[in-house]
Amino acid sequence: MRELIVLVPHEAASRIRGSGSWGNVTFKVSAAQNAGYVHQISSGPDTVMLPVELQPVRRHFLNSGEIHCGGRWYRVGADLHVLWYLGRRRTTTLKLESFKAFVKSGFVHPGKAAYIAITHAPDAVDRIPGERLPALAAWHVGADGAAPLDIDCEPEVLGNEQLVQSWPLEYLKPSTVMVVGAGSIGGAAAHALATYGAGRLYLVDPDRLRWHNLVRHMCGPEHVGRSKVSAVRQDLELLRPGVEVRDFELDVAQDANQIRALLMSTDIVVGATDGVASRRVISHLARRARLDAVLACVLEDGALGEILRLRPWPDRGCLTCQRHALRGAGAIDPEPGIDAGYGTGSRHRPMTAVGADLHLVGQLAAKAAVATLLERRGFPDQQLPGDHAVIALRPQPGRAAPFDLTHTETIRWRPGTPPIPGCPTCEDP
Ligand SMILES: [Zn+2]
Repeated sequence: MRELIVLVPHEAASRIRGSGSWGNVTFKVSAAQNAGYVHQISSGPDTVMLPVELQPVRRHFLNSGEIHCGGRWYRVGADLHVLWYLGRRRTTTLKLESFKAFVKSGFVHPGKAAYIAITHAPDAVDRIPGERLPALAAWHVGADGAAPLDIDCEPEVLGNEQLVQSWPLEYLKPSTVMVVGAGSIGGAAAHALATYGAGRLYLVDPDRLRWHNLVRHMCGPEHVGRSKVSAVRQDLELLRPGVEVRDFELDVAQDANQIRALLMSTDIVVGATDGVASRRVISHLARRARLDAVLACVLEDGALGEILRLRPWPDRGCLTCQRHALRGAGAIDPEPGIDAGYGTGSRHRPMTAVGADLHLVGQLAAKAAVATLLERRGFPDQQLPGDHAVIALRPQPGRAAPFDLTHTETIRWRPGTPPIPGCPTCEDP
């Protein structure tokens, strides 16, 4: 059995920091996981126990744990935490008298009933050069001594904000990304975008999640029957609570007017639909809204992935123009194959692409969208090698360039191609 871990919610830690020199503590404990958290706490001679919430309140497994009373917290001298640190490394137990000597007041002798103690040493942090000692430590206090326990204190800031020093969140947080298509690729793209720190996502898809989607989708069976956009939104709200997710049960072609209105507050579009018509509509609407769009799909029954970045620039063509250039160069036009989808497992259309391959392509599309946003904000290290990437998932020989990849995980980038004269999407009306 692993040793006990003591979790200290932020609320409990700030109460300990802000009160006198000792108090009572009750824990909620899971014996199966050998884990517990500070569930109630009091301060000094005032014995009123105040409850502490462990987030997420309804879902954290410890909220249904068993209550253990009799715990204590103490204000202590900083050197006790040096002993806690050394004791943790050598798994040694401190003599009870030595432990007691560091406790400023309120010490309770364990007698026959051992208890868990949390010690607070505000000056301990820099006590050992090069090490960061905790201001709160945990102990198993029994008649034969005090044994250091594992402890984890909930940080004041959780989620993407923790990356603020190393990742340009300040530029991504105000960004809105529209993800059209909340299937296996779009769902994975949405998860990745939220994890990269995009502040707001618009999810657009008219379809419901069905049983046959589960083999490839990010969402689980609890969502079957629900719209895909609301299923992905709900999962993201639990996993990435800092991200605002709005779901729209809209069809990009039939509801183009509503999409157009949403594009006014969108910074970039990720297109992850598997129909030719919808991809063309995304290309057209994004171009007219002067927005970058990243189209992601899987081709040839899951053999290849593709990312196509469409820029609303005079020297770059829309989807139709880029496909035209591809055909002109002797390559296949993959669009008709995209219409076939990935199969439902029924007799008439077997399952093709593998879920994780679709997720990989969705994540690369999210990365391309985030890189595009950051490059626009002046991050030269976020420059993509081109606008069109072909990704080998299960490559087979004999395809025309640029689809002639031979090794799995090869990603080949090409530049975008210019518009065809007279293109109704690329030329201003
Ligand atoms: Zn065009």
